[in-house]
Amino acid sequence: MPQNNYIYESVKLFVPTANSQSMHIVHISAECYPIAKAGGLGDVVGSLPRFQNEMGNRSVVIMPMYRTPYLYTHEWDVVHKSSANLGHWFFEYTIIKESTSAQGFELYLIDINGLLDRERVYGYEDDTERFCAFQISAVHWMNSWEHLPGVVHVHDHHAGLVPFMMQHCYAFKRLASVPSVLTIHNAQYQGQFSWDKSIYVPQWDSWKRGMLEWEGSINPLASAVKCAWKVTTVSTTYLHELCSMSNGLEPLFEYEKGKCIGILNGIDYSVWDPEHDRYLDHRYAPSSLEKGKAENKALLCSQFGLNPSKPLMVFIGRLVGEKGADLLPQVIRDSFEFVGRRMSFLVLGSGESSIEHELRSLNEISMGDYASYIGYNERLSHLMYAGADYLLMPSRVEPCGLNQLYAMRYGTIPIVRKTGGLYDTVIDLGECHGYGFSFLHAAVGDVTQAIYRAVEFYHEKAFFNAIRQKITGLDYSWDRSAAEYIHLYKSF
Ligand code: ADP
Repeated sequence: MPQNNYIYESVKLFVPTANSQSMHIVHISAECYPIAKAGGLGDVVGSLPRFQNEMGNRSVVIMPMYRTPYLYTHEWDVVHKSSANLGHWFFEYTIIKESTSAQGFELYLIDINGLLDRERVYGYEDDTERFCAFQISAVHWMNSWEHLPGVVHVHDHHAGLVPFMMQHCYAFKRLASVPSVLTIHNAQYQGQFSWDKSIYVPQWDSWKRGMLEWEGSINPLASAVKCAWKVTTVSTTYLHELCSMSNGLEPLFEYEKGKCIGILNGIDYSVWDPEHDRYLDHRYAPSSLEKGKAENKALLCSQFGLNPSKPLMVFIGRLVGEKGADLLPQVIRDSFEFVGRRMSFLVLGSGESSIEHELRSLNEISMGDYASYIGYNERLSHLMYAGADYLLMPSRVEPCGLNQLYAMRYGTIPIVRKTGGLYDTVIDLGECHGYGFSFLHAAVGDVTQAIYRAVEFYHEKAFFNAIRQKITGLDYSWDRSAAEYIHLYKSF
């Protein structure tokens, strides 16, 4: 097995203590930005604990120790060493803590030699073994604490067996009375494995078999839905959608909906704020919105050879079916044909090669009205949120969606499909107090029709500017969401 090539800075034995003034919350997750991120899960676990701490709580994160750059650029203390079993395999694990709590919360990494210390977060053949051993270690460690946590908050299926282990594994009896919360960021992935591997779960009461199982397999996400004291989804509409569309778990969500609630994600204004955005050459406050947006648009259009006098529509995201990115090429063609060359499009993203190829081949009909950047470019994404007039999100599935929230903060009007968090955060202009464009179906005709409406609206300058001003002031801060989670924990 490969050995770690880092040196622990010091060795201190650590026992977490309780503070009666605050809640002690433990987040268990496979991802946490900026340590390791593959999607929105990482963003949430990287921000929520900091905001919970700012409210006077003690919120900490436990995650696997991968070999990501963060590991080598920070200092670590060893706080615990022990051993456990994964079936017949005996393994040793080490808990290291980031010395300075640089992210605004205590960060604990679980190191299991040869199993977790890899460069990627997911995608290995032994992911089942990796995440089972991770969860066993996390629960085994917590079970040894003198003061037990006030709540254990697990995220997605990679931590989904934790509520079962806390309640039904003989070795972790001390944790049976600790409340657990599951947050579902994406229910498409459930981490199922076969009953042959049931010995991975430390000895448990065999009468509880049903609490692990879904449709003939051990299903960590289903198990967490059954065993966690409360279940949250990252938007209310996504929760309703799960009852009719959740990759086989529909009856379970229907049955358990009484303990489920939707809590919308927040956005981190220390990163996403046009007044202080370190990626922007032209920063702007709400009072200089029109000027700031015009300067950023001019810069963006000059970089991509687009005409700044036309409304600029952008798409930013993974080029996959879930995001409706496969619709874009035909939407752009149809818009030019049926709405006319009255707008420009700029696409930033990477993903399925067929979609990337089609988007590249659209350059042939660009005539200065279309451009794309195929790849990942954080700086460009910030400039696009700042310089665009409209953000297009024709998503098929969007549990919460962060892009529309970033766009609104930057005064860019969202054009979205009515699904999940998009439904909850964007009200169509045709409705009372509306401020965006929305449509029902992930279909070329629906998207093109919404684009037509947006192009017409662009020319109603006074109204257009008033709406831009309005959306920059909408509150999607973490303060609100973090308070909702605390309220939920206190309901136990
Ligand atoms: P998710 O994976 O959470 O479903 P996305 O992949 O669309 O959603 O993007 C989420 C975040 O990643 C947003 O901050 C968005 O701006 C950013 N992002 C997505 N694709 C790119 C890209 N190609 N370049 C830069 N930022 C991107």
